[in-house]
Amino acid sequence: NTEITQEWLQSYVDDWVKFYKKQTRDGEVASYIPELNKANPNHLGISIVGNNGVTIKSGDVDIPFTIQSISKVFCFIIACMERGVSYVLDRVDVEPTGEAFNSIMHLEMRKLKKPFNPFVNAGAITVSSMLNGKTSDEKLEPLFILLEKMLGYRPALNINVYESERDTSIRNRAIGYYLLELDYLESDMNITLETYFKQCSIEITVDDLATIGRVFANDGIDPNSGVEIIPRKIVRLAKALMLTCGMYDASGKFAAYVGIPAKSGVSGGIIAVAPPRVRDEELPFIDGCGIGVYGPSLDDKGNSIAGIKLLRHIATKWDLSVF
Ligand code: GLN
Repeated sequence: NTEITQEWLQSYVDDWVKFYKKQTRDGEVASYIPELNKANPNHLGISIVGNNGVTIKSGDVDIPFTIQSISKVFCFIIACMERGVSYVLDRVDVEPTGEAFNSIMHLEMRKLKKPFNPFVNAGAITVSSMLNGKTSDEKLEPLFILLEKMLGYRPALNINVYESERDTSIRNRAIGYYLLELDYLESDMNITLETYFKQCSIEITVDDLATIGRVFANDGIDPNSGVEIIPRKIVRLAKALMLTCGMYDASGKFAAYVGIPAKSGVSGGIIAVAPPRVRDEELPFIDGCGIGVYGPSLDDKGNSIAGIKLLRHIATKWDLSVF
């Protein structure tokens, strides 16, 4: 019966980061965006920001990385805030595809007559086309403002990643043209794609993801100030989509084995959200938390190979599942 203190939790997390760091060898860093391939495959870091103000950080926590697909959650939220939930959901569905994130197949099947969900590239590009503004910078300004509200600083674009992605974006352009043909885009295709590449290239750290995750865990309220930053209805919808579609075509397994809303990106970042629960007496120091993970070595689905294992371990041992 170990007494659970912050020190105990810290050394527990340190031990398991060390353990799972070895497993970074089993994956590979993304190479289809050349700039991402420069990441160190051995990096693994985690930040956990608990509701009771406790922060636990371990491993490679100071390495900045681009948010990539994690931006799909934030842009979906902005689109819902700007246009209203029903406007957005009339144009993008909420069904998992079971296909890779950059799949075009579900569009061609035309079963739903719209992209399956906002967290595959086709749905995310459609969402980016809905954002207000004439230029990509105008479209993304509300996203930067939202991030700044949560983080206390304005994150910047990693220009090298942005240019690398823009210059090698054959598949995403193919998706863009196909969306254009189907008449799904709400604004100019090139501006929409530029918006999408920029949103993916915003640079943050695991601490930032954990801080944002904690706002999600509290249904959109910043627990430090008590101020509502994201409307509850929208953040809840985003969390449902993270749980069902957040980890690409490994979302089912993640829900079954980890059991918390999360979203990954090909740079190796993961944001995860453990809402506070009634029965958290075992972990009084945590009581709901946001978690940020970074591990650029990826599995065959494009998720951080060691990051998922680390999250699974911690969520299981700390009983974080929302079920
Ligand atoms: N920028 C990446 C792409 O569109 C994002 C994909 C991802 O993180 N899975 O290819």
